Amino acid sequence: MPATVENPDVLQREPAAQRLIRELCSIITQYLDSKQVYEVIQAAHYAVEAHSGQMRKSGEAYICHPLAVAIILAEMRMDTKGIMAGLLHDVLEDTGTPKLRLIDDFGGEIAEMVDGVSKLSRLDSKSRAQAQAENMRKMFLAMGRDLRVIVVKLSDRLHNMRTIKAMSQEAQRRIAKETLEIYAPIANRLGMNQIRLELEDLGFKALYPMRYRVLKQALKDARGRRKEVMAPMEIVIRDRFQTSGIECTIAGREKHLYSIYKKMRSKKLSFTEIYDVYAFRVLTRELDDCYRSLGVVHGLYKPVPEKFKDYIAVQKANGYQSLHTVVIGSYGLPVEFQIRTNEMHTRSETGIAAHWAYKSDDQDNQDEKTFAHEWLRGILEIQDHTGGDPMEFIDHLKVDLFPDEIYLFTPQGGIIKLPRGATVVDFAYAVHTDLGNSSVSARINRHLAPLHTQLENGQTVEVITTDWAKPNPVWLNYVVTAKARAGIRAYLRNFKQKEAVSLGRNLLERELTEQGSSLAEIPESDLSKCLHAMGLDSLTELLEAIGLGNRMPFLVAKRLSQPESQAGIKLDNHSSSEFEQPVTSVPLLIKGSEGVVVNMAKCCRPIPGDCIVGFFHPGRGIVVHRCECHTASSVQKKQGNWLDVEWQSNLNDQEFTIELQLELLNQRGALAKLAFVIASAGSNIENISVRNEDGVISSDVVLLTVKDRIHLAQVMRKIKQLPVVTKLFRVSA
Ligand code: MN
Repeated sequence: MPATVENPDVLQREPAAQRLIRELCSIITQYLDSKQVYEVIQAAHYAVEAHSGQMRKSGEAYICHPLAVAIILAEMRMDTKGIMAGLLHDVLEDTGTPKLRLIDDFGGEIAEMVDGVSKLSRLDSKSRAQAQAENMRKMFLAMGRDLRVIVVKLSDRLHNMRTIKAMSQEAQRRIAKETLEIYAPIANRLGMNQIRLELEDLGFKALYPMRYRVLKQALKDARGRRKEVMAPMEIVIRDRFQTSGIECTIAGREKHLYSIYKKMRSKKLSFTEIYDVYAFRVLTRELDDCYRSLGVVHGLYKPVPEKFKDYIAVQKANGYQSLHTVVIGSYGLPVEFQIRTNEMHTRSETGIAAHWAYKSDDQDNQDEKTFAHEWLRGILEIQDHTGGDPMEFIDHLKVDLFPDEIYLFTPQGGIIKLPRGATVVDFAYAVHTDLGNSSVSARINRHLAPLHTQLENGQTVEVITTDWAKPNPVWLNYVVTAKARAGIRAYLRNFKQKEAVSLGRNLLERELTEQGSSLAEIPESDLSKCLHAMGLDSLTELLEAIGLGNRMPFLVAKRLSQPESQAGIKLDNHSSSEFEQPVTSVPLLIKGSEGVVVNMAKCCRPIPGDCIVGFFHPGRGIVVHRCECHTASSVQKKQGNWLDVEWQSNLNDQEFTIELQLELLNQRGALAKLAFVIASAGSNIENISVRNEDGVISSDVVLLTVKDRIHLAQVMRKIKQLPVVTKLFRVSA
């Protein structure tokens, strides 16, 4: 029986609950009418009753958790039913109340929301990761029916993160990791900035307690210095806005700990390099005032041209709107400005959460929901493609959750948003799956470009297609969007096995003929030995693998026709002792190369982290080029000899040679300084050659060794800091 508003019995037993219910009431009375408030209280009492006697790990009464979740929801101005679902969110999972009972007491809408948030009962045969993935998928399906499910779930997670200290170390780490990898990005996707920032900071604190403490202290120490710089600047800015007559509020802005940490990691910058970027936020009343304010700021300080972003005219994928600009402020320091209306600001804080509380003819609010729905539709489409594999779904979801995006144009002027690093293939699939499936190349700003080309903001992309084109498995190496990945995989999966087998047979026979043999001539014993070595059960499986592009016909033919004398070819670990180690062999650098000699192309000198593509040269093994290498793209035109290659994750600090071209001022000791800096960055110089000298500037080519791209970036940054260096770039054929 549902509890009533007057329920002294229950409340007397739980004094903490009584206090929280009062707090909840004081918030919801600000925006709900008395009937709605009554309904919420009724749900609260129902939850108190249902959870009565249960404790949380922290020792407090369990009911405090759903009440705290409801308060978080109310602070975001969630509607009545959403708050009720928050109050009841653990009733199904934790109290044994059946769903039918909940439907009877509160109606289907609320019961469905609660069900969407509840975990599936864990099946013992499944791993934790798999169970987690299945729950996530279930939640997304429920979200597809009602977006409030995710708002409730995020509030639930936020309160769990606030009280995570009560959990074991291991559980803390697991929950924090999931929060950072999935829930915070989802909040970001839905424009719920406030929740996102808190989730991130709490997740960071639980996952890396030491780093969190160190950074927090550093932030505290830096604050005083920061004030000294910001305060006088703020006075000047306020003054200028006053005379311009624009009504607005101006505030200094500080980066959050986790954002600082992320930047330090991804850009390899020090704390001061990041923290010393000063930032202001200007909030205006009207939209027009945003652009006028921008004028004021640019009139006061010189803007850095490429840093200006108009997210008001072109919104971010999560609906975020604001003008961003960077100017050179006092003392020559870069200063960031974010300029937006109060309303845009509120929306950027709560995102879709506030939607339901307002009447639905509010246009801006509609936009928000459309964005969320559009995103969700994409996710659910992926869910269809993944054919019910929850782990694959999670992979796709993660890829989708980091929206560092670029904007591109179709030839008709349509705007396509893609994540940074997206290629022509991603673009084609974003427009339409059929376009992706039949693409062969593209015109980028009317210039012909290959499919793997990474796109840049603002480009116009026209995808060129042919009837006979089909997705190539090598595309999976460089696509970055979940949609393209799912599209390619779906195509390859559907590619009929028969077709693959017959194609594989053709390709293999052709190679064998070239090597003076044929499938019929291979002795049964050699064949089964090879199949065993490759971990395959049958010839059909092998042919299928060749037909699908997972194995190279050249390699297989070589193995089959000369199983004992593999010049330059080393088999996998089990059998390598049977063969002599070839002298020219280098350790396996590349996944899928399975014992073939691997050479780094001299024209473009790839290093770990580069996008790479491999080519077969009979007698030379695989030569690895960078994707953007010209030699590579001309070889690629001759079909059939490319190979799907990828760097191995564990390279044991192996060193790779790269080529840098630079211009030096012809000063005494310039080369010595250069050599010193390179050595101190942990790199070895293999050769320096001076190409031309004009008395003032010399143009030099340096061959040096690095471990990977990150190391290279460090070396290049150090070189750039030398005043004698006027130009520096990596040579790429
Ligand atoms: Mn909960």
